[in-house]
Amino acid sequence: MITCVADKATTKPPRKMATLLHALDVGLPKEELFTWSPNVTGSIRQEKKRAGRMEFIKRFVSLTSQVELRDKNVVIVDDQYTTGATTMSHIEMLLDAGVRNVLFVALFYLTEEVPIENTCPRCGKPTRIKYRKRDGAPFYNCVPPDYNGTGCGWMGNLANG
Ligand SMILES: [Zn+2]
Repeated sequence: MITCVADKATTKPPRKMATLLHALDVGLPKEELFTWSPNVTGSIRQEKKRAGRMEFIKRFVSLTSQVELRDKNVVIVDDQYTTGATTMSHIEMLLDAGVRNVLFVALFYLTEEVPIENTCPRCGKPTRIKYRKRDGAPFYNCVPPDYNGTGCGWMGNLANG
């Protein structure tokens, strides 16, 4: 059968992945196997390490379908492969449910690594990626004590930070 990664309730457009799944012209049964919890708090972008990202997904995404999965072969589609955390957590959930083989297909693959940390050019401490409230634009921040960090407060953009 073929399925897609879970659609977040807040994703625009809604049901983006499910729509992609049902638009595919393939001779396989289509099943929406995964669901994001409506009670998601935080964002995967705040998770700096792959283990944290996988944990985040597994906390809020579950296999909600009643379809029998044992010994089945399943294809999962996603629009974009970023760090592999979404990929691996969805695959693990299927394998845990007894699926025999999983093929993961992503339409886009980021050829540049997603920057998840950087070093402050001013004080040398590790910076964090923050997101500007106004428009969600990412920037590096050497988080100062006022914000529970130990850094100097430096901010830089991701492109030449
Ligand atoms: Zn600094």
